[in-house]
Amino acid sequence: MATVSTLGFPRIGAKRELKRAVEAYWQGRDTAQALAETARDLRQRHWRLQREAGVAVPPSNDFSLYDQVLDAAFCVDAVPARYRALADADPLAGYFALARGHQRDGLDLHALEMTKWFDTNYHYLVPELQAGQTFALRDDKPVREYLEAKAGGIETRPVLIGPVTLLWLSKTVDGSDRFDLLDALLPVYVELLGRLAEAGAAWVQIDEPALVLDLDDRVRDAYRRAYAALAGAPRPKLLLATYFGALGDNLALAQSLPVDGLHVDLVRAPEQLDDVLASLPEGRVFSAGLIDGRNIWRTHPDTALVVAKYARDAIGDERLQLAPSCSLLHVPVDLLHEKALDDELRGWLSFAKQKVEELRLIADALADEKAAEAGLAEVRGQVDSRRRSARVNRPEVAARVAALDAGAARRPTPWSRRQALQQETLGLPVFPTTTIGSFPQTLDVREARARFKSGKLAEAEYDAFIAAQTEACVRAQEAIGLDVLVHGEFERNDMVEYFGEQLDGFAFTKNGWVQSYGSRCVKPPIVYGDVARPAPMTVRWSQYAQSLTPRPMKGMLTGPVTILQWSFVRDDQARAQTCRQIAFALRDEVTDLEAAGIRIIQIDEPALREGLPLRRADWQTYLDWAVESFRISASGVRDDTQIHTHMCYSEFNDIIEAVADMDADAISIETSRSRMELLDAFVKFKYPNGIGPGVYDIHSPRVPGEDEIAELLDKARAVIPAHQLWVNPDCGLKTRAWPETRAALKAMVSAARKLRAQAAPADAA
Ligand code: GLN
Ligand code: ZN
Repeated sequence: MATVSTLGFPRIGAKRELKRAVEAYWQGRDTAQALAETARDLRQRHWRLQREAGVAVPPSNDFSLYDQVLDAAFCVDAVPARYRALADADPLAGYFALARGHQRDGLDLHALEMTKWFDTNYHYLVPELQAGQTFALRDDKPVREYLEAKAGGIETRPVLIGPVTLLWLSKTVDGSDRFDLLDALLPVYVELLGRLAEAGAAWVQIDEPALVLDLDDRVRDAYRRAYAALAGAPRPKLLLATYFGALGDNLALAQSLPVDGLHVDLVRAPEQLDDVLASLPEGRVFSAGLIDGRNIWRTHPDTALVVAKYARDAIGDERLQLAPSCSLLHVPVDLLHEKALDDELRGWLSFAKQKVEELRLIADALADEKAAEAGLAEVRGQVDSRRRSARVNRPEVAARVAALDAGAARRPTPWSRRQALQQETLGLPVFPTTTIGSFPQTLDVREARARFKSGKLAEAEYDAFIAAQTEACVRAQEAIGLDVLVHGEFERNDMVEYFGEQLDGFAFTKNGWVQSYGSRCVKPPIVYGDVARPAPMTVRWSQYAQSLTPRPMKGMLTGPVTILQWSFVRDDQARAQTCRQIAFALRDEVTDLEAAGIRIIQIDEPALREGLPLRRADWQTYLDWAVESFRISASGVRDDTQIHTHMCYSEFNDIIEAVADMDADAISIETSRSRMELLDAFVKFKYPNGIGPGVYDIHSPRVPGEDEIAELLDKARAVIPAHQLWVNPDCGLKTRAWPETRAALKAMVSAARKLRAQAAPADAA
């Protein structure tokens, strides 16, 4: 019989129990002991839940107090020197110091860098390595958790991050090649696998998602050497797990490695099935990733069953495992907690627990289709109702997108001419100053919103409160002397949710939490249907704010790519299509803002870069539709209406031409943390429009000095012509407090004024 397995289960808990426990420990409200107990309870609960739902051997060591990559680094003693004394004295404190930094008792340790786990919205900690370092088995967590489950009568399959993927995810701090460390690292894996075998583990899942990336020969060679070394010693059987894409040109390499099983992602890359089956070595187990581990839709049982049967006919029952495409870390725990969703919509969804049940049903049907028919029919009915639903399909939306003429999604007049026309109405000085949108979301703002949402504050009172905040913010900006103002975004909780709540085709969960990093969780909106905008979303507050001041007030919108990236999106149409629909809804908002007298409109796209596909060969297609979507939203305006955009990351050298192709009149970007290193890109590539490299880092309460800002502006001026240069912070100010915000912006305004005074008259023309 084919078995059902999972590659990992969400660890945060259906009600974010782990978040609460970890934070209570950090704040000293609870002991390490209490945290350990909550963690153990969650592990036990999730093992039992998976067993009951039909997984014979659930995974272990998929649990983590913070991050699985940090766990792996800690396990092999990849602990940089600055943390060692603390980690030796108090391992738990040392572990969290790596994750979050540590400022206490005279110590000031900064945390490891954090970055995105492949193309997901999960963030991992980047292990820091250096040439010549050693490794050792510092922590036997994988063995402990295996034995913990076993003591409770549950046989598990421990999960390890494979040695090559671990190195791939790491960075060296001395510029050396991290793959040179492979030989030093491998003995620790050999020892760990030996310990797991001794403890009784029959199988280990060894995660090597790096196998779906573009790899060079050095990394391919590392794979061969690593797995040859692991094959020589006593160890459990190895299931090599790949996910997030096709093995592609690494398929032969993966099949050549001496392992006992292979997992592939058949949701992201169903097309690889035939090649994988055909090249599967004799006797090797095949784990078919049939159900989407990254999205929340119920899979059509007939589709999954066809694939499962096909695989079974090729390799037989005994070697086949049915699994989600990847770890279920990326979906919420249990749909049962979503009582507020209507039945129809709930019938379309599947969270982690339901996904296991879906796989169970497929496995049962594979064994005896007649006996499983009633179950299949029920799910079939639900999934089919989604296909037919009038809530999902709105012909007028599809028709509008279909009617799109690519040429229409461009502003007809070139930037230089537009800039002149905009200058006539705006009359801004050279080096105009502005901010990114939000101003401090102080406790009283958050409290007022919470009271309004829970019905304790009447709408009229809440509105009056927001109006007062907005007015105070406008006055503060005038006093600081900023040139282009913003309304402050006090009415917004989150830059995607605020729009999703006002658009058709979006649904929201109560407990649909997904771990973003450490104890931070997000609740992504669900885009289930064709997107439309029933009414203006932001016009009222923008118009109100503009009525308070003669200075230009920027309208503030979240862009289509960012709304798409930070939501669970439809799997029944291409992402590009959903993105275009969102873009059209925003286009209407943009033109409504213009009609309401707003002369500058900013469309934020902080998530544009993170949408880049894992393989370079797929980049251009993505960039084409992503940039086009932005232009759809931005190009409905007159020449003299100014469009801004904002992105908050500094690595965009790779995509700078696509960014220029968005053709925003001005873009604000992050640069200050890297001391304007980003500007190197502008030496080679002449960015054509207005650009505001962030002049100070808003992630820290530190107030920058005027001279320091002036110095950064000088650097910027060296590569960006004066008439293109804007002056602004790195990102929105919502996480800051007012005193430092005022002080920092004053310094920024004076630096800009100084620069203006020095500027040659020709610059000002
Ligand atoms: N306008 C948003 C703000 O200022 C932009 C946030 C972001 O870039 N993530 O908060
Ligand atoms: Zn930002």
